[in-house]
Amino acid sequence: MDTVLEIKDLTVSFDGFKAVNDVSTAVKKGDIHFFIGPNGAGKTTLLDAICGRVKPAAGSIFFKDCGDVTKLAEHEIVERGIGRKFQVPSVFNSITVFENMELAAEKKRTIFSTLFSKLSQEQMERIEYVLNIIGLYEKRFEKPAALSHGEKQWLEIGMLFVQQPEIMLLDEPVAGMGRKETDKTGELLKEIAKDCSVVVVEHDMDFVRDFASTVTVLHEGTLLVEGDMEEVQKDPRVIEVYLGR
Ligand code: ADP
Repeated sequence: MDTVLEIKDLTVSFDGFKAVNDVSTAVKKGDIHFFIGPNGAGKTTLLDAICGRVKPAAGSIFFKDCGDVTKLAEHEIVERGIGRKFQVPSVFNSITVFENMELAAEKKRTIFSTLFSKLSQEQMERIEYVLNIIGLYEKRFEKPAALSHGEKQWLEIGMLFVQQPEIMLLDEPVAGMGRKETDKTGELLKEIAKDCSVVVVEHDMDFVRDFASTVTVLHEGTLLVEGDMEEVQKDPRVIEVYLGR
């Protein structure tokens, strides 16, 4: 598989404390790549570095043919095709599911532009396609308040995917979901991964086991082990530091 993103010798420091310490890894095209590890391992900081929210003290992040994106501002990184979903919800509750998707498709974060400008036929078709794969086409004229917790998460994932990113970064997308919703989210990520690599920070080990193509285990800022879930979960270092057995 082709490499979409290459992280090389990356260190992120906060007042001299290395939250990410000399990490090198790569995300492949079409991969569902999980970052796991105990609390404080550096997973979220690594996502923050990829999307430009924090700047590294050392190292580089190469994305497609864009060169080292650590030199770019956060919005420039988004424009080049790296989308990030945060744990904090970012849907607008006063407008419908469809209007939220329109907003995202336009990449203009104002409600006015959505209400008063027209999307192209291509954008409309893209929205309908994404509404179908996130399972919300029938609910497109509902307001987000009418959606379940899982449906709200899928709407947010859809709002990222409608922008056609090449990598999607997700921070604990199944937090607060039951098993059925979690599995549905995994199936959605599999569908998305046909077009877009997916990087997920996750605590739910059943979810990781069922849907990961690659797993990177971080511990105290360093990369401990990397591979497929089968290799990773039988590694004695992982059992010791992460699974605690
Ligand atoms: P994880 O996502 O694996 O739980 P984080 O990336 O959130 O870990 O944090 C890694 C370490 O860096 C933790 O010890 C955390 O306290 C520290 N850290 C994260 N962000 C900051 C910050 N903005 N300022 C200072 N320390 C931070």
